[in-house]
Amino acid sequence: MPHEIPHGPVGVTVLGATGSIGVNTLDVIARHPDIYRVVALTGNQQVERLLEQCLRFAPEFAVCADADAAQRLAAALKQAGAKTRVLSGMGGLEEVAGLPQVDQVMAAIVGAAGLYPALAAARAGKRVLLANKEALVMAGQIFIDEVRRHGAELLPIDSEHNAIFQCLPVDFADGLEEVGVRRILLTASGGPFRDASLGELAHVTPAQACAHPNWRMGRKISVDSATMMNKGLELIEACWLFDTSPERIQVVIHPQSVIHSLVEYVDGSVLAQLGNPDMRTPIAHAMAWPQRMASGVGSLDLFDIARLDFAEPDLGRFPCLRLACEAMRAGGTAPAILNAANEIAVQAFLDERLPFTAIPAVIEKTLEKTTRHEASELEVIMSDDRLARSAAEQLVAEGIS
Ligand code: NAD
Ligand code: MG
Repeated sequence: MPHEIPHGPVGVTVLGATGSIGVNTLDVIARHPDIYRVVALTGNQQVERLLEQCLRFAPEFAVCADADAAQRLAAALKQAGAKTRVLSGMGGLEEVAGLPQVDQVMAAIVGAAGLYPALAAARAGKRVLLANKEALVMAGQIFIDEVRRHGAELLPIDSEHNAIFQCLPVDFADGLEEVGVRRILLTASGGPFRDASLGELAHVTPAQACAHPNWRMGRKISVDSATMMNKGLELIEACWLFDTSPERIQVVIHPQSVIHSLVEYVDGSVLAQLGNPDMRTPIAHAMAWPQRMASGVGSLDLFDIARLDFAEPDLGRFPCLRLACEAMRAGGTAPAILNAANEIAVQAFLDERLPFTAIPAVIEKTLEKTTRHEASELEVIMSDDRLARSAAEQLVAEGIS
């Protein structure tokens, strides 16, 4: 018997459609044309890809964050005889996240730029499929409050958080202690430089950092995986999603990326979610939840995998994980400052203006130089985000090492 699948048509907006998560989301949607209807697609500057996607999925709206790109897209769509309406800028992104005909919003814009559109989806009471971890890192309390206030549903797309969600009981929102959870085990592949020495790390190139052993992802998250800041951001993300603190989360290096995370209960039981490292699994899970539907991901071949390894993270070689943990403990706007400094440092590394090993140094010094505030107002968060960006830019320009 096939599993029961949701009743269609379900209206979907894909924010960040042209990125790695966006493309995987459209792959899943294309497998279920009877259930899902693409209402809006958004991108930034990749006009060609967004045009192709619009011609294939015929959304009502397409948005380019970039105004020039929006004009080029509109002209190309008109020439192709497509009816898709083109919007631009942050206003356009927020608008398509909250349209009445939209049920689910895939929040897959990378970085701080994804915060406002994801918030707009929460405020419109949508099912928010959250890939953009930076939104929770920057404004976790506000985001969670808005989800509750507007009756939105928040489903994690990040593979680890989706795994944890799958291993928790449905009533986990009552509190992890209440439902008998002792701790969360957050797995990390360790990235492409898992076994590299500090000396070797000093000379790595953007191309090497973006060549992840198990996952194909956008460039920013690939560098985050290589520094392990990705795991730091995920630790913060997990604290907000599951209403817990860093003390209850153990990061576990697991190079094969087959176990996507685990939950340990007070009776000693440990539940894990396993699968091939393919983002279509968490995407399909979150879209169909509480049902299941095919994602295109094949069976896990345990005989082929043969063994699973585990190790403790090395905070000496990967200080970003420590910095993220400290920022979460410090609270207020500290995680937003950490995130902003990281975005600047990663971009500088990708532009070959900063050595790989200076990324944590830029972040640590930015945290020292930027005053942290209460994070109860978005304006305060955005102001500290801006201050942190300029402090980090200055550190990069000064040639921090
Ligand atoms: P990507 O770089 O491949 O795609 C990013 C998308 O965001 C693109 O569509 C791009 O056009 C859009 N974008 C970039 N800057 C923008 C701006 N200023 N305004 C509007 N749109 C903008 O990134 P990705 O790998 O798909 O990751 C997207 C998000 O999902 C990130 O937050 C990442 O941490 C998270 N995530 C990704 C993966 C993965 O496997 N790729 C896994 C877990 C979580
Ligand atoms: Mg992840």
